[in-house]
Amino acid sequence: MTRPIYADINLPAIRANHRLAQALAPGRHILSVIKANAYGHGAAQVARCLQDETDGFALASCAEALELRDSGIRKPLLLLEGLFDPNELEIAIAADLALVVHSRQQMHWLLRRPLPKPIWVWLKLDTGMHRLGLTPEEVPEIHAALRDCPWIQGPLLMTHLACAPEPGSVATQRQLQLFERLTRDHPGLRSLSNSAGLMAWPEAHGDWLRPGIMLYGANPLDVETADTARLRPAMRLHSRLIAVRELALGEAIGYGGRFVCERRTRVGVVAAGYADGYPRHAPDGTPVAVAGQLTRLIGRVSMDMLTVDLTEIPDASPGDPVELWGEQVRADQVARAAETIAYELFTGVAARVPRSYRNAGD
Ligand SMILES: *Cc1c(COP(=O)(O)O)cnc(C)c1O
Repeated sequence: MTRPIYADINLPAIRANHRLAQALAPGRHILSVIKANAYGHGAAQVARCLQDETDGFALASCAEALELRDSGIRKPLLLLEGLFDPNELEIAIAADLALVVHSRQQMHWLLRRPLPKPIWVWLKLDTGMHRLGLTPEEVPEIHAALRDCPWIQGPLLMTHLACAPEPGSVATQRQLQLFERLTRDHPGLRSLSNSAGLMAWPEAHGDWLRPGIMLYGANPLDVETADTARLRPAMRLHSRLIAVRELALGEAIGYGGRFVCERRTRVGVVAAGYADGYPRHAPDGTPVAVAGQLTRLIGRVSMDMLTVDLTEIPDASPGDPVELWGEQVRADQVARAAETIAYELFTGVAARVPRSYRNAGD
């Protein structure tokens, strides 16, 4: 047996989540966010599975976009942070990439000499996230310069919401009001929402939505709703038991002896560790499913292994399947236990974990 850890990627689930996004925002355009290798799910495979239903894809770099062009994706591609260096402009033009412009410097890179063909620009306004984007004072001048430039198409107007996962948040209401005020006098298409905005802020749908995490089936909100319950997990990280042992009351398990048996305990050793992307900070009690039964992590996660409580699963034996996250144990639950977010779990699945793709059938 080879090392038994795998990430199964359920492409029909991703399609179903995209259909849910579209159903929640009827008639709007969807830019599926597949940066960071589609949050660890495989950018080329995810793009191929969505290309007939989505309106475009969003990425973080030229390298990510070129990978998609090389694998035959012809849809609009947007670089969410735009160019990092003016030398990338040539690549962006050749590969027909749309660019975010979030700063005066990026505007200058585009305007300083005529381009051989027009390029789409999404102008990013800072309405309160305070990470990237034009200040309110910069908007009129930079917007006008881009609008009047013959080789620039658009600009579309975009912003990013800092607190969208929290329904009703005052910070989000303020951002929406500021965006409305800054863009009131400018025609053109608008984009404000990531997955959380799409699911919780219908007034922020604009013309183009930018869902990422919801496509992969994790809940983008701080709360559960009827809609978030319809999201289907797209990644199942699973492995097997490679050893089982019995320990007496008072014995400790693993590095640092963090977990001490409160009773006679059956312990299963699973071939999955932090070098696979399982969070090292997961505490005792983090949910795990062994042979279809829910149990808990006990002991510190090591590089290649972790240990689980089998006391209540007396039949479990080496070779039995273990789900780290997926259908039975949601990535959101593991993330909450480990004080992180599903985004970090998905993007942290290591290159050494083989992905296997399921295409057909729901
Ligand atoms: C990553 C990203 C998104 C997608 O966010 P999710 O929370 O995954 O839906 C949308 N917009 C921008 C600008 C992003 O960087």
